[in-house]
Amino acid sequence: MTAQLDAPHDLVGIGIGPSNLSLAALAHGLPQQGAGELATAFYEQRRDFRWHPGLLIDGTTLQVPFLADLVTLADPSSPWSFLSYLKHKERLYPFYFAEQFHIHRAEYDAYCRWVAGRVPGLHFGHQVDAVRWNPERDLFEVDFTQLDPAGEAEALGRTYTRNLALGIGTAPHVPEPLRPLAEAPTVPVIHSADYLDNRERILGAEHVTVIGSGQSGAEVFLDLLRARPTGRERLTWLARTPSFAPMEYSKLGLEHFTPDYTRYFHSLPEPVRDHLVPAQWQLHKGIDTATIAAIHDELYRRTLHGGWPDAVLTPGVTVRTAGRVATTKVELHLEHAEQGARSRLTTDAVVLATGYRERPLTRLLAGLDPYLRKDSSGRPRIDDRYRMVLDPSVTGSIFVQNGERHTHGVGAPDLGLAAWRSAAILNTLTGKEPYPQPPRTAFTTFGLEQREHTRPRPAGELLPLVEHP
Ligand SMILES: Cc1cc2nc3c(=O)[nH]c(=O)nc-3n(C[C@H](O)[C@H](O)[C@H](O)COP(=O)(O)OP(=O)(O)OC[C@H]3O[C@@H](n4cnc5c(N)ncnc54)[C@H](O)[C@@H]3O)c2cc1C
Repeated sequence: MTAQLDAPHDLVGIGIGPSNLSLAALAHGLPQQGAGELATAFYEQRRDFRWHPGLLIDGTTLQVPFLADLVTLADPSSPWSFLSYLKHKERLYPFYFAEQFHIHRAEYDAYCRWVAGRVPGLHFGHQVDAVRWNPERDLFEVDFTQLDPAGEAEALGRTYTRNLALGIGTAPHVPEPLRPLAEAPTVPVIHSADYLDNRERILGAEHVTVIGSGQSGAEVFLDLLRARPTGRERLTWLARTPSFAPMEYSKLGLEHFTPDYTRYFHSLPEPVRDHLVPAQWQLHKGIDTATIAAIHDELYRRTLHGGWPDAVLTPGVTVRTAGRVATTKVELHLEHAEQGARSRLTTDAVVLATGYRERPLTRLLAGLDPYLRKDSSGRPRIDDRYRMVLDPSVTGSIFVQNGERHTHGVGAPDLGLAAWRSAAILNTLTGKEPYPQPPRTAFTTFGLEQREHTRPRPAGELLPLVEHP
């Protein structure tokens, strides 16, 4: 091992997706914010910055306005804003006339790569393997493997830090009954996260099935539909949800993605929070209405000269099991719960748009386990400042970015809260509030107690009774 015994960092970030890239960009701006310089280093296992490369399908856009870039909602004057990127690329006028609030996904990726190529202290091709607390030095030890361009281990290293920021994101999820299929190389069965790399193979298949009714499933289905000849589409789109439901995008509904709602959610008891997240599925699991409209338009266009497209779109269907037929086909065993009916579908290719799960922290943090405080389901407890609750003997902090849905709610993966969260982390870390944050961010008042804090009360108005358990 090549131990690096240089001076410890103030902050080490693990993973460089948008969450930690936002933190790195805002930390880089700190001297201008009067909080002094922080010694930071960020480590990412990929060779370079890539944002969901398998789903940068032509024409797809962000689901949030461009203002949800890495920095703007915390500091619009940052040199790392999307507008600053456009200025640098001399594209401000075309963007101005384009009037696009929701920018292309490929453009967001290019913007992030521009930031990642300029902010100092980012180390790509470094996979962090383990984190420990060193009580003698009052520092975290971070072990990493340096990877060569082929992803093979090249060297081992260690660095030391007073604080950590975990930004390891999510990984593609394949439900248990479908796992054997994903491991069968002879039939193209892929997760939507790998769609673009396999698009030609999938398009070459006689019949294709897309499973999953989220945004990715809809985008893949639309892309395949557009690429197949009219009348010979040979596509099936199956969803477990009772309908191909739109994502909630009303202006007051979007206030669930504000710091106000995050604060309210965090204040709720654990069982209430656990009940809420799945109940709010339409806030984060539905399909963007523009994508639904585009699918309908495309299907309709294909009926203009009579006939129906050869495409089956069926919600309410669960894939119970699946297996290969001979070497080139797959058989899916389906169940429709409302009908109480079962059937089989033979197909030549499957795209599993079955979502993502938070990357487990267990292996990475195994060495810290005795210091971690957990909730009743064994998940890390995370305080309102995004810090893991640790044994009081640990003087450093571990901040969590996009791994706190169980404590902070549906906004945890949302890009519109990334800059706010990064700013909150830097305010806590420096103790100086370099990025002042307004106390109120929503018109909706979430919860009775909070209303009494935020709403000016006319003299003589009685306080409503708030019962505390
Ligand atoms: C296709 C798709 C589209 C989306 N679109 C939107 C959108 O329009 N609007 C929105 O608000 N949200 C969107 N999301 C939600 C998503 O949360 C964000 O897009 C975003 O990627 C989250 O960033 P992150 O940095 O938290 O995690 P990630 O982007 O997942 O990045 C985590 C990084 O950590 C690295 N890593 C993991 N473990 C290690 C380790 N041990 N050592 C070193 N590096 C490690 C990974 O390689 C990865 O690069 C979308 C998600 C998907 C899948």
